[in-house]
Amino acid sequence: MKRIYLDYAATTPVHPDVVKAMRPFFTRTYGNPSSIHACGQEAKEAVEAARGEVAGFIGAGSEEIAFTSGGTEADNLAIKGVAYANRKKGNHIITCAIEHHAVLETCKFLEETGVAVTCLPVDGEGRVDPDTLKKAITPKTILISIMHANNEIGTIQPIAEIGKIARAAGVYFHTDAVQTTGHLRGDVNELGVDLLAMSAHKLYGPKGVGALYIRKGTRIAPLLHGGGQESGMRSSTHNVPGIVGLGEAVRIARREITEEIQRLTFLRDKLIKGILQRIDDCRLNGPLAFRLPNNANISISYVEGESMCLNLDLAGICASTGSACSSGSLEPSHVLRALGLPADLAHGSLRFTMGKWTTEAEIDRVLEVLPRIVSKLRAVSPLYHTRKQR
Ligand code: PLP
Repeated sequence: MKRIYLDYAATTPVHPDVVKAMRPFFTRTYGNPSSIHACGQEAKEAVEAARGEVAGFIGAGSEEIAFTSGGTEADNLAIKGVAYANRKKGNHIITCAIEHHAVLETCKFLEETGVAVTCLPVDGEGRVDPDTLKKAITPKTILISIMHANNEIGTIQPIAEIGKIARAAGVYFHTDAVQTTGHLRGDVNELGVDLLAMSAHKLYGPKGVGALYIRKGTRIAPLLHGGGQESGMRSSTHNVPGIVGLGEAVRIARREITEEIQRLTFLRDKLIKGILQRIDDCRLNGPLAFRLPNNANISISYVEGESMCLNLDLAGICASTGSACSSGSLEPSHVLRALGLPADLAHGSLRFTMGKWTTEAEIDRVLEVLPRIVSKLRAVSPLYHTRKQR
């Protein structure tokens, strides 16, 4: 059975051209970029070429890019780095309820060390209200951290608007752009951000490598101390093949982004419309207008997201759900809870995320298989039958 992969937000396959670009850096150009001999300098050249590629894509200068081990580290570096370096200025951070755990847990950690954190609510579609954010700023605020787009429900935040507010207030602004880099255009000056986190494995690059954009002049402390690589911002020997892979992935994204946005938006809308037409008692989570082009997150009443996911898997379709099965209870994710969904809808959520190799035939297959799975599960759902009799 040929698998249908619709979980591109979790991770993407590595593009064959990325693999090709990385290969020589395992066995041929294996030097340490910090070494002064030819072998090291060749590796350094490749790292700097990748840095230029990443910087150019987001409208930054090469010296403003620090390579990291991924999105989580980039988020940690941005938030802890600013908190540590700006202690004298203030100790207040503003974020929002639907951030990725890489941001929320970092803020929670800082809270335990005395930093004050304001976690803003979102509306029913997952959007932060810029006016509410503006009112939350105090003289002690040093950082605002709001993600570019949400990994579960695809909501795109009003980043440029928040950027203007942050700039006017003299507060640093970080955005977690892990789900958008390579998928949406994101120029750091248009967005008005001082820090932007990205991760290679979400844009057809390898796992375990990412980058943080740090606007020139930003006061930030490193988290890793050692050999002083990345201008002292991130010590540790460079992951040369990984960095080369990120650079190549960005180069491909730059070339294909316009066409991909169009193609994926068509597939996304076909899938959303098709599900809403074929299945009763279901709804779209997140907005339609400010939404990632590849994300469809649907809640279906009277069925568990986990059961649907497992049944889809048996039919060869890889999707994900907004519930995490922990300690025997199926708890809806913090993102779905923040939307204020009723319990049954929060429990019955399914996320499909499409990518470069998703075809229309695959979407048609989901539209054929999913309604059958839902009918089968509802046939044994007492809640569904009670509701029918009401
Ligand atoms: N931020 C967001 C929005 C994500 O979706 C992810 C990964 O799922 C991360 C951060 C973490 O990135 P990484 O897996 O590269 O550490």
